[in-house]
Amino acid sequence: PIIPDYLAEALGDVEPDNSGDLAAYIPELAAADPERLGVAFATVDGQVHGAGDIDVPFTIQSISKPFAYALALADRGFAPVLAKVGVEPSGEAFNEISLEGGTGRPFNPMINAGAITVHSLTGAEGSGPAERVERVLDGLSAFAGRRLVMDEEVCASEMAHAHRNLAIAHMLRSHDVLTEDAGAVVDGYTRQCSVLVTTRDLAMMAATLANRGVNPLSGEQVVPERVVRQVLSVMLSCGMYDAAGDWTTQVGIPAKSGVAGGLIGSLPGRIGIATFSPRLDPHGNSVRGVSLFERFSSDMGLHVMEVP
Ligand code: GLU
Repeated sequence: PIIPDYLAEALGDVEPDNSGDLAAYIPELAAADPERLGVAFATVDGQVHGAGDIDVPFTIQSISKPFAYALALADRGFAPVLAKVGVEPSGEAFNEISLEGGTGRPFNPMINAGAITVHSLTGAEGSGPAERVERVLDGLSAFAGRRLVMDEEVCASEMAHAHRNLAIAHMLRSHDVLTEDAGAVVDGYTRQCSVLVTTRDLAMMAATLANRGVNPLSGEQVVPERVVRQVLSVMLSCGMYDAAGDWTTQVGIPAKSGVAGGLIGSLPGRIGIATFSPRLDPHGNSVRGVSLFERFSSDMGLHVMEVP
């Protein structure tokens, strides 16, 4: 088995690296097992190859952002979403309280200000908070090809410390980017972040993006192809927060990280990749996950700017 052996060897090489720290601002995440380590590749024809802890559940956190963005674009159309959330890299940390001058529009859907706004744009127009949460959970499940659930403990733990996201939401409300109760939107966004996934699920979700929006297992067209192009473009330019430029030049795979330690990459027409290792670098990206992606990109020539 060439691929599993290669993946197991790659994990063995990054395992000794115990640099970085668990996310401390959500108490429940600070209690995670820092030694967890897994990697999965899902091809666009539905094969999964993995090594390590690929069936251990953890919360999706910010990796939900590109998928919720896809759902909002599919549900509302491009114009209403682009009117509220830009597509420019901000070069700032994920939770920076900064909005575009003048319009008050968040720079992009991958930083919290943008993702909180995007959450408010999921579901049919006029959807209430509970309907939006249901739409997001259904949509994330369709991307994964199986029914996902939320981790209520992590959700409650984050909500109890959500002051910064609440501040961002109130700023958005003051600019009329949000037009409803800021607290209810942050509650829904936090639920979205608390959805439990495994490394295998994340690889399949990334493979759905790589496969023109069609889940390789169920065959369901989860979002239109045009939406997928938009989402992958934003992942490439903004997916890794203030490390997006380094990532795009060195790894060159549309990607998204989450503070629970997940990391996904999606190569159009080819493969979805996911890694899981909870210790984070100062940008909030998984230390071992970034090393693994650097290696995969150079070993297999996965950089999107390279001629295959
Ligand atoms: N729930 C987290 C927050 O909004 C997600 C951040 C992340 O994964 O980067 O603070």
